[in-house]
Amino acid sequence: MRIDIITVLPKLLEGPFNDSILKRAIDKGLAEVHVHDLRSYGLGKHRQVDDYQFGGGAGMVLMIDPIARLIEDLKGQRDYDEIIYMSPDGERFNQGMANQLSLKENFILLCGHYKGVDERIREHFITREISIGDYVLSGGELAAAVVSDALIRLIPGVLNDESSALSDSFQDDLLAPPVYTRPAEYRGWKVPDVLLSGNFPVIEEWRMNEALERTKARRPELLKKSEETGEKGK
Ligand code: SAH
Repeated sequence: MRIDIITVLPKLLEGPFNDSILKRAIDKGLAEVHVHDLRSYGLGKHRQVDDYQFGGGAGMVLMIDPIARLIEDLKGQRDYDEIIYMSPDGERFNQGMANQLSLKENFILLCGHYKGVDERIREHFITREISIGDYVLSGGELAAAVVSDALIRLIPGVLNDESSALSDSFQDDLLAPPVYTRPAEYRGWKVPDVLLSGNFPVIEEWRMNEALERTKARRPELLKKSEETGEKGK
């Protein structure tokens, strides 16, 4: 998988890909993440990338030309499966979308800033628009990092125990059951006996039950959704 991220703030994206699971995925060659500074395609001596909005009003808008040229340069080098604009009015990101997208190869993620990007970019270059939730961030960088993380961890070989991605919350529309590690007792607070029993079928049943109870209590609409699609859980 290759992810090209277009941003006016490349520094903001240095952190997320330089540690832990994402870094390991990149080091192993399972994922490539390339961050492109839009300013290097900026106009004139000052490398301008934004301008006032037509019609007046507060807030700058990222101009069409630098973004268009950068996207076209990238498209000249390889085919892209999706050119995604991170946007609060996009499709709401969820695990199902992450699963689907993780099967694809090449992505461009365009991060907006200020008031957003010139609408013509969205009309003529963007194939998909994704929101990470109903709130407004100051730029698309953190959202792009969220989406990249969710996709990269699904690539086979990225997580040490591949099956662990499958037992996470939202796979099969269930929240994950509680987890514990040593010590088995801390200040008198005990780990459920069943987890120490070594009886794996019983442990599996306990986990399934806890996942169901937790989902019922916290996100009952997920259970309704899987009833409708005929899935029965993990
Ligand atoms: N004026 C826009 C918001 C611009 S916020 C509006 O009201 O819809 C600046 C940039 O941050 C956006 O261009 C987008 O790239 C990013 N952004 C903000 N909130 C986001 C969210 N919830 N999901 C994804 N990207 C977001």
